[in-house]
Amino acid sequence: MTQPFSIAIHGGAGTILREQMSEELKASILADLEASVRAGHKILLESGDALEAVVSAVKVLEDSANFNAGKGSVLTNKEMVEMDASVMHGKELNAGAVAGVRHIRNPIELARDVMDKSNHVLLIGEGAEEFAFELGYEYTEQDYFFTERRYEQLLSMKEKGLFALSESKYPDDKKYGTVGAVALDQHGNLAAATSTGGVTNKKYGRVGDSSIIGAGTYAENGNVAVSTTGMGEYFIRKTVAGDVAARMRYLKEDVHTASETVIQGELKEMGGEGGLIAVDGQGKLHFAMNSSGMYRAGIDVNGNLSVKIYADE
Ligand code: ASP
Repeated sequence: MTQPFSIAIHGGAGTILREQMSEELKASILADLEASVRAGHKILLESGDALEAVVSAVKVLEDSANFNAGKGSVLTNKEMVEMDASVMHGKELNAGAVAGVRHIRNPIELARDVMDKSNHVLLIGEGAEEFAFELGYEYTEQDYFFTERRYEQLLSMKEKGLFALSESKYPDDKKYGTVGAVALDQHGNLAAATSTGGVTNKKYGRVGDSSIIGAGTYAENGNVAVSTTGMGEYFIRKTVAGDVAARMRYLKEDVHTASETVIQGELKEMGGEGGLIAVDGQGKLHFAMNSSGMYRAGIDVNGNLSVKIYADE
């Protein structure tokens, strides 16, 4: 008998309003979400490892300009991209992460290589890139990441003196478009991956939760895998992904209760808008958000696909 397996992905949570979403943009986002979850699911179906599945799902979203990761990353105050990413494998609690990388097309691959090929967990900036180029990564020019849309967003944030997205010019202006994936494979392994461009107009080497193990990403076999999205300054202080895992481990809460308690509880009271995706040791998927929407998709243990945007769906 085959063991259960399942996967969930997200493309960011936040204020996503129906009236501001064109049919064309919606169709394009839904297509990307489905392509991502299917890419990861295919690997699970072929008996591949959960980590392979989450990395390949995230890569699909990093390669799309629709999300704030890889190609579609937001711009810093200095008009460039600086990306953060992390992965975790639940079997031996191995993890890898990068922060502030500027010339890496798929930061999620580099995070996995930090886990597999270095003695460290988190590499930053130039050092992380030096490691990448030694491994044979291609130097990706900043031009590859530049989109007119992100440039206009940056100008509007600069004008308002804000560093986070907070007023809408685009449907996802108040949306934290980080991407992530969690999966359970047929061998009982749980894994999580998260990748982001961070927040528009960030300065001084700001790093969010997406490269922090225990905040943006966590995976522990037999328990849960979690990937988060939202304002990193809150998610780091509430150690969101780690807190969900701890509640399940010590309080024996189920994935639904633990995720909702964290996302709808103190995090929300502090002002931490956002959400998370999680999968437990039996493959049960959960999507939690305290915002009006979260781009998300899943294929459950019965092979059923769901692709959603709004919180009330
Ligand atoms: N969590 C990310 C950060 O703060 C933003 C996001 O979720 O889009 O860098």
